[in-house]
Amino acid sequence: MDVYGLIGNPVGHSLSPPMHEAAYEELGLDARYVTFEPAPDAGAEAVTAAKSLGVAGLNVTVPFKQDVLEAVDPDDLAAEVGAVNTVDLRTDPPSGYNTDVAGVQRAFDHHGVDREGASAVVVGAGGAGRAAAFALAESSVTLHIANRTAEKATSLAEAVRSSIGDDLDTPTTVTAGGLDSLAETVPTADVLVNATTVGMESDETPIPADLLHGNLAVLDAVYAPLETRLLRDAAAAGATTVDGAWMLLFQGVEAFERWTGEEAPVAVMNEALREHLE
Ligand code: NAP
Repeated sequence: MDVYGLIGNPVGHSLSPPMHEAAYEELGLDARYVTFEPAPDAGAEAVTAAKSLGVAGLNVTVPFKQDVLEAVDPDDLAAEVGAVNTVDLRTDPPSGYNTDVAGVQRAFDHHGVDREGASAVVVGAGGAGRAAAFALAESSVTLHIANRTAEKATSLAEAVRSSIGDDLDTPTTVTAGGLDSLAETVPTADVLVNATTVGMESDETPIPADLLHGNLAVLDAVYAPLETRLLRDAAAAGATTVDGAWMLLFQGVEAFERWTGEEAPVAVMNEALREHLE
């Protein structure tokens, strides 16, 4: 039997076990998915310990996504983003990936949102903000990162710029600012991602409703609740809306496919995820 798992602190209410186990059952794989809660300073140690116990793969969540870099060999994308959320423990050293980036891209793809040449805005510069910024930098012509702490947006913009700097085919202009910069950038944007915690378990929104419009596609990384105030405001403005469970689903789909080499049963995983969210 193959054992996969998630390390995080806390991991109590994780939706990954039902989502992955539904896929194992659907494909008849002899595998289990369990959660581990290492001490907050023991993320890298946990990766090494899991490898010696024969665990096949790990997902990684808050607060360990940066810490585990010291215990893995990250691929180029994970190294550029500076965060690992998926580890293959069957290689030596373990291989680190960032499937949150693909989670954002595949969530938009699934909703038919074409980002080629788009103007994109990411609100937030934490873990989800980093993934969203790198996900959108690949295809957008302009990318603006807004964050409550403007300096963090600036340093993320620098990281994105330096990672695309060598790619002469990528014309992306990356800018940064505080939350007040949203008033200038959202009205002309095609794509918007909320990657802050605002709206989580509350009816708040980080983006004033009057900035939203019908030409926008809005992804809210927040998935509890599924229908956030931002998504309600966006739908009322005629925008395309993508809830946070799609991002969660597709980062899991990418991890599953890397670990097993099988095509993931996306519909089954989506159903399991939404059943546990609702
Ligand atoms: P994080 O690293 O802690 O970052 C939190 C972000 O929220 C920072 O940009 C922070 O700004 C901002 N923020 C916090 N309180 C704020 C406020 N009152 N007003 C404005 N901005 C505020 O968290 P994370 O891991 O990126 O997660 C962010 C959200 O994305 C969470 O809701 C999480 O559940 C969700 N998420 C979803 C997925 C998915 O697959 N759907 C994956 C990862 C995360 P400062 O820098 O100024 O503090």
